[in-house]
Amino acid sequence: MGVTFMPAPPAEGPVEQGACIVCAAQPPQDRRLFADYETALAGLADHRRFCTDTDCGEHAYRPFVVVHSSTDTEPSLDVSVRNAMLLLRALGLVPEFGADDVHEPPPGGPPAPAPGEDTPLGGELPAEQMLGRVELALALAPADAGVPGRNLNAAGTVVDFGRPAGYLQDRLSVLRELALFARDQARDVIWH
Ligand SMILES: [Zn+2]
Repeated sequence: MGVTFMPAPPAEGPVEQGACIVCAAQPPQDRRLFADYETALAGLADHRRFCTDTDCGEHAYRPFVVVHSSTDTEPSLDVSVRNAMLLLRALGLVPEFGADDVHEPPPGGPPAPAPGEDTPLGGELPAEQMLGRVELALALAPADAGVPGRNLNAAGTVVDFGRPAGYLQDRLSVLRELALFARDQARDVIWH
């Protein structure tokens, strides 16, 4: 589970840009480009005329149709929930937790959830505003020293991989490209 930052969908919706047939063959042998889903579906019938891969068509490796969309190649950023919180904090989009956020659980009751655990991580911002916040965060955020990985149990089978140094600045740079793209398209930036 994670959070994805991306440009909001275009007002008129993604534009379909043809369809193709994908199968187990690597590299693909059937390189036909079809006008739409229906014609590609019809094209499945003679896929074997174009594809001689011996793994193709067996069990889970049946060829199938993929429709190309104008949004397929748009920039997006996938991060874990924890790293999303890091980014959103740097962008000033989630409040810092103060003393008021910490509630003592009643005696004998279940422990209180950690602050932020139930924070819904979704939002939308005009690209221009996102860009401004990213530029500000890049200017202000201290260099990310990262977090070393560590074992969470003695056997070493549960590992917290930590965070590489410079992670925050690196992700902010990706987010800046994304915001520039969205601004060029007059679209918002969304995350969920
Ligand atoms: Zn094939």
